[in-house]
Amino acid sequence: MVSAIDERVLLSRFEAGRQLYNACLGEAMRRLRLVKQSKLYQKAKKIKGNKKGRYAAFADANKVYKYSEYDLHTFATIVRRSWIGEHIDSNTAQKLATRAFNASQKVAFGLAKKIRFKGKSQLDSLEGKTNTTGIRWHQQALVWGSELKLQPYLKGNDPVILHGLNSRVKYVRLVRRRLNNQTRYYAQLICEGQPFIKPKNQIGSGVVGLDIGPSTIAIVGETGAKLDLFAPQLKSQEKQIRRLQRRMERSRRANNPENYNSDFVDSQGKQKKGTVKKGDKKWNDSKSYRSARSAKANLERKLAAHRKSLHGRLVHEILRLGDTIKLEKLSYKAFQKLFGKSVGKRAPGELVSHLKRLAESAGVNVVEFSTKTTKLSQTCHQCGTVKKKSLMTRVHKCNCGVLCQRDLYSAFLARFVDNDLLQVDLAHLAWSGAQALLMAAP
Ligand SMILES: [Zn+2]
Repeated sequence: MVSAIDERVLLSRFEAGRQLYNACLGEAMRRLRLVKQSKLYQKAKKIKGNKKGRYAAFADANKVYKYSEYDLHTFATIVRRSWIGEHIDSNTAQKLATRAFNASQKVAFGLAKKIRFKGKSQLDSLEGKTNTTGIRWHQQALVWGSELKLQPYLKGNDPVILHGLNSRVKYVRLVRRRLNNQTRYYAQLICEGQPFIKPKNQIGSGVVGLDIGPSTIAIVGETGAKLDLFAPQLKSQEKQIRRLQRRMERSRRANNPENYNSDFVDSQGKQKKGTVKKGDKKWNDSKSYRSARSAKANLERKLAAHRKSLHGRLVHEILRLGDTIKLEKLSYKAFQKLFGKSVGKRAPGELVSHLKRLAESAGVNVVEFSTKTTKLSQTCHQCGTVKKKSLMTRVHKCNCGVLCQRDLYSAFLARFVDNDLLQVDLAHLAWSGAQALLMAAP
């Protein structure tokens, strides 16, 4: 929280930043449209096979209409000649222009359908470019121009924060968050060097095998094994979100009957609600709708944070067991096809990218291998039998005597995959020692 005087300064700067961002975004989209309508662009589109030539031709079209990050920086400089310049320094302006350019690129590459201009108080972060001018970190405070010096509230001697404060700051991001009707500001320091690793999160040594299912993860190392559910705690929050979603839908339908087609009976004779009409519509949002919407947004934010911290914990647990991690290369699309939307929400994919990110900075090896050649979930290491199991079968129980929970067994085998092939001999050697560990896995 900041003083009333600082708050007033911050409010006008965030507002100026928002307007600058919107201006840059509008300009970027205008230039992008011109590029797309141009003959140069149309010609570039027709170039086939010659990748380099095609790329150069697109670049030419962009150049003619000044559609580039650099040109948008120049545009931001022009916008700053207005009242906005009194509130936003040139470095911060350039970062905003870059953000707007990136947003327009998403549309250009088909990654986003529509661009979104920032509505009143929807721009909640501003950042500097270097730590020498503009928004910067100086003598343990956030300084921005001569008017603004914000002293942080620091949590005691949190080692993570101390580590950050002792690193060289590349640039500072100023973030605004509204929590329970109070506005708080955060300074995020983007530092050089390695992220801090808590002593209890030291990296183990050896090979860890993982088996990641849509809602479970099996972790097997030399000295520990664990079968975990993907964040079951998140389930009730997801339920709440769905309930709010339904409430919003009911409220919208009740207040805007003109926006819906009439109810109908489907081919199976079931009564169905009318779908939303196509085309432009005006929505009349009731008070209860708006309150449900903000409650839902709040919950979603909490859920995302919660999931992230749970993933973080799981990743540290994995890294404590070893410094080489082996897992099947997973197709999450296939997952979703098989198991539906819940996969998207519990996001095993997010977990894997979290793992990779941390592993990279800690110098840990992550090896992904193909499921086609290994077939871990079907193989028995002892007798070599390869047999498909149904998803209902939760144990690996082979006639040769091997018995183990299925996911833990796959994770155990994953430790012995080299170059996309299971090294059966190695698995065999390790089995007698690992058996007890796997039986006892929590
Ligand atoms: Zn067997």
